[in-house]
Amino acid sequence: MRGPSPLEHEVATLLTDPEFEGHPLKEALSQLWGAHHDLLGRIERIARVSDGYQSIARERELSLAARFDKQLRQLEKIARISDRYQMMMHDLNASLREASTLDSLTGIANRRLLTERLREESERAKRYARPLTLVMLDIDRFKVINDEHGHEVGDRVLIEVVRVMEAEIREQDLCGRWGGEEFLIVMPECTAQTAWAVMRRLGDSIAALGVRVNDELLGVTASMGVAELHLDETYSSTINRADIALLRAKRSGRNRCELSE
Ligand code: GH3
Ligand code: MG
Ligand code: MG
Repeated sequence: MRGPSPLEHEVATLLTDPEFEGHPLKEALSQLWGAHHDLLGRIERIARVSDGYQSIARERELSLAARFDKQLRQLEKIARISDRYQMMMHDLNASLREASTLDSLTGIANRRLLTERLREESERAKRYARPLTLVMLDIDRFKVINDEHGHEVGDRVLIEVVRVMEAEIREQDLCGRWGGEEFLIVMPECTAQTAWAVMRRLGDSIAALGVRVNDELLGVTASMGVAELHLDETYSSTINRADIALLRAKRSGRNRCELSE
């Protein structure tokens, strides 16, 4: 609301002046004065309506911006969750792969990983005519250990034997659990003669190992069968020959290593 201008003030004074009474222009001026006020009133109403519109538009703009911000924050949250989820999936995949390729008791390769490596190594050996030797190792009279001392002690024996085995074999060799108390050692770039020497040493180390049970040291031995891959045979045939050599080692008294002829 604006205050009256000097002109308005003057007109208002004039219209109430008794001396102006009867003046020929008084009627016209008073009508003009009324019209002027009408117009002012209308302008004020229009200004109020327009202000109202502006504030509605501003509110709408603000609420749009707020909604946009909120949605942006939600999207950022979803992106963070998705990142975390992807990382979890990655870890889960890694541990699934581990669980599917490693033996849960001893932590070494399981039969599945062994088979994978056997396929790769036998192909490589044949392609480049390089030596590849397989060893089947079986713990002696393991059933007796289980029966006399319990399954838990049996498990500990398996873990201890694996520890010795991993310490004795070379970097490029792979030992894994073939099943039960039987282990397969894949030795690339190694002839049967060299493998046999390594296995003799391993056999001695296993025999020297004492697994502590209460106050006693429990002796363990293992028998082994060694076979080198023939270029014209499958690795399964080599495993069979290693098995036969192992059987011979068992039959001739255990705690020894036999070479497939
Ligand atoms: P040999 O000298 O002829 O090899 O006799 P052995 O007693 O070692 O062989 P046998 O095949 O008769 O027995 C193997 C035993 O190994 C039977 C089985 O219960 C046990 N065994 C297999 N897997 C596990 C395991 O994960 N933990 C334990 N504690 N024992 C196992
Ligand atoms: Mg056995
Ligand atoms: Mg066995």
